[in-house]
Amino acid sequence: MEHKDLYKILGVAENAGPEEIKKQYRKLAKKYHPDKNPGDKAAEAKFKEISEAADILTDPKKREQYDQMRQYAASGLGGGGFDPRHFGGGRGGGFRFENGPGGFGGFADIFSTIFGDGFGAEAGSGAIPRKGKDIHGSLSVTFNEAVAGVKKTISISGLQRCTACDGTGAEPSSETTSCPDCHGTGQISSAHGAFAINRTCPRCLGRGRIIGKTCSACGGTGNTRGKRKLAVQVPAGIEHGQQVRLTGQGAPGSGGAPAGDLFLTVNVGDDPHFERRGKDIYTVAQINLGQALLGGKITVRTLKGTAALKIPPGTKGGTVLRMKNLGVLHDGLQGDQYVTIDVEFPKDLTAEERKLIEKLARTRGWSTEK
Ligand SMILES: [Zn+2]
Ligand SMILES: [Zn+2]
Repeated sequence: MEHKDLYKILGVAENAGPEEIKKQYRKLAKKYHPDKNPGDKAAEAKFKEISEAADILTDPKKREQYDQMRQYAASGLGGGGFDPRHFGGGRGGGFRFENGPGGFGGFADIFSTIFGDGFGAEAGSGAIPRKGKDIHGSLSVTFNEAVAGVKKTISISGLQRCTACDGTGAEPSSETTSCPDCHGTGQISSAHGAFAINRTCPRCLGRGRIIGKTCSACGGTGNTRGKRKLAVQVPAGIEHGQQVRLTGQGAPGSGGAPAGDLFLTVNVGDDPHFERRGKDIYTVAQINLGQALLGGKITVRTLKGTAALKIPPGTKGGTVLRMKNLGVLHDGLQGDQYVTIDVEFPKDLTAEERKLIEKLARTRGWSTEK
């Protein structure tokens, strides 16, 4: 259900006075009036919307109720998941709507205005099962664990499904029976003039079943507070910052609804030898001047150990050589390893070595002038 922001619809501030609201309404009504926009369905819908918004915001009583509901929404009843039980009369903190045909008419109108037309249907279904909240956390793995994949055991504390009763709220040995008041439907229907109002069955709290004996471990709520351990499989090749989603491992739901999900953001540690960019691995290898000039073969460190790398003659420092398929395997694709070549220059030439180089320089015609 989407929560309509009536203030936004009218384009006024939340603390706007009645005069300002009326003025703004007249302005918009003029603009979107069907007489001015014949055949324009969008304008017609808009006109209806602003009229409904003005109807509530210009009536001090309705506006107060609406403002309270907004606060409720903001306070984490969350995402439009309104529970009509909070609006039942006399439970404190909820909203009371006057009885009588007019009162109930207003009730339905207000809710369908604010929460969309789906509200009526949902309100009739008794206890709205609410999916448990998603939980977000993080998980640290080493560089190698991320490459190869790893199974980690984590500990989660908070509300969890009661293990004694598996969330039913009933003592395992006790039997549950169909609720005689609502005949197992979880809701009770009563006629108010032209309206049939469904409400949550107070006897079974919408469950439809009467519990013979409440679970002693959770007091019948189906949830307990505590810690649980959970094995998490981190897939091979996961990248730093990626998420692992564990469906149904979030907070437990209410009214028989499923639990939320658990999202773990994976922090991948650094490695002194390897740098990773996506599926590719970057390393640095040193060669000596002889290998740089003459070419050769060196042994480089790879994710799986070591591998031989051929150095072509005349390789400059900074050259990047690719070693195919030695990167990270992720989603069925294999990355490569890129090796940046660093050429070591001897700084401690002996007199004899110096002569050799000078001879080479003369042969090559290199200028050695100082
Ligand atoms: Zn229990
Ligand atoms: Zn019942």
